[in-house]
Amino acid sequence: MADGSGPYDIVVLGGGSGGYACALRAAELGKTVALIEKDKIGGTCLHRGCIPTKTLLHSAEVADETRESAAFGVKARFEGIDMEGVHAFKDKIVTRAWKGVQGLLKSKGITIVEGEGRLVGPTRVAVGNDVYEGRNIVLATGSAPRSLPGLEIDGERIISSEHALKLDRVPSSVVVLGGGVIGVEFASVWRSFGAEVTIVEALPHLLPLEEESSSKLLERAFRRRGIKQELGVFFEGVKTTDTGVVVTLANGKTLDAELLLVAVGRGAVSAGMGFEEAGIAVERGTVVVNEHCQTSVPGVYAVGDLIPTLQLAHAGFAEGIMVAEHIAGLNPPAIDYDGIPRITYSDPEVASVGITSAQARERGYETVEMTYDLAGNPKSQILQTQGAVKVIAQKDGPVLGVHMVGRRIGELVTEGQLIYNWEALPSEVAQLIHAHPTQSEALGEAMLALAGKPLHVHN
Ligand SMILES: Cc1cc2nc3c(=O)[nH]c(=O)nc-3n(C[C@H](O)[C@H](O)[C@H](O)COP(=O)(O)OP(=O)(O)OC[C@H]3O[C@@H](n4cnc5c(N)ncnc54)[C@H](O)[C@@H]3O)c2cc1C
Repeated sequence: MADGSGPYDIVVLGGGSGGYACALRAAELGKTVALIEKDKIGGTCLHRGCIPTKTLLHSAEVADETRESAAFGVKARFEGIDMEGVHAFKDKIVTRAWKGVQGLLKSKGITIVEGEGRLVGPTRVAVGNDVYEGRNIVLATGSAPRSLPGLEIDGERIISSEHALKLDRVPSSVVVLGGGVIGVEFASVWRSFGAEVTIVEALPHLLPLEEESSSKLLERAFRRRGIKQELGVFFEGVKTTDTGVVVTLANGKTLDAELLLVAVGRGAVSAGMGFEEAGIAVERGTVVVNEHCQTSVPGVYAVGDLIPTLQLAHAGFAEGIMVAEHIAGLNPPAIDYDGIPRITYSDPEVASVGITSAQARERGYETVEMTYDLAGNPKSQILQTQGAVKVIAQKDGPVLGVHMVGRRIGELVTEGQLIYNWEALPSEVAQLIHAHPTQSEALGEAMLALAGKPLHVHN
């Protein structure tokens, strides 16, 4: 462990997606870097977020495919979920990636400091008795699960995503409070594992930030899967009993379940670490930054879930890289947050990039839209999925948004992202030949239709 020597070019506080990406890029650019982490390098995404949830979702997919195997002419019998095996698979993937990222940081000569850091001035972070001096400081302390006023997460009956990831059994029934990405993904996993699931969401739709038609398709697919939904309904309270919880809703309904998952969002981790004492502007817990992630104190930057941008690992990676390049004087462009792809990895998946039709209206665009139903896409039929690809374009102009729902559709967002970020016209994309049979053809078909030359479109 380092003894507080320095000064380093950069001291990064927090070794999650934002922090370690910044450290790696800075080291590549020849900067000396100390990376301070109190828990495990990789942070939420690797240990309590993206990766473990996606392993659970993959186990869920295998369970569903086993149950449905007869439809594909394969003889298999679903006998149940072995949670020990589910966790062993999850832990194997996480551990491998954890080792990988630690090795990568070491190979670039980054000093990893194990311990809890506290900002003790605009150029200094204390860890125990050691002080790490940096010409620049990057704050990357991330976020933690939030709750509602008066709703206490006890870790037994009332749990957060962190407890859910460690659950040693399949609950018989769960109420999921919050229909955002995290709530929807856990609802999907538990339903595939055999639980009775009800999602409670105060706003009128699941995934309220997505295109409304995508939310509606997801809601329909979830209803078909037997996932119950109480939408546009406020949570009122919860009582724990010997066997579970009784949740009361503002519409007078009560829901009995074994567990309540609280998935109402995540709050930035900014308290008690000396940020405000060092003069850094903090608003409602998040650190205020400009378009280059500079805080109100010169030389101090903040990235990732700590700032009020998209709470996504790849947004954190991008911010970390941009900050390293800014410090190195490379003058990187600011991030276009609309151009960051978003995926919810439930069954079906929901993916998008660019803006929604509501946002396009707010911004005064005259638009044209095309929705291509996956019913007309043979690969989607082979995968036995329903859903759609919707493209929103400026009238006589570039594509403004791509919104998709369907099993495995998330991988397609990469094409949507190239289209959006290169400001491509539908007619330009329509010239590109999509391989047959792939799900990407659905995107190609939508572009062909927008370009005035529809191929497999019934109307
Ligand atoms: C259940 C779940 C599923 C998710 N799935 C996805 C997904 O599929 N795709 C996606 O893009 N995003 C996903 N996310 C979001 C993603 O995990 C976060 O956006 C990302 O981890 C944010 O990175 P960060 O570096 O800002 O913070 P974090 O990853 O939270 O890292 C912050 C780090 O700072 C450390 N730290 C905090 N305070 C101190 C201190 N004082 N001293 C030293 N160290 C400190 C913490 O220990 C932590 O390791 C998911 C999140 C959750 C909870």
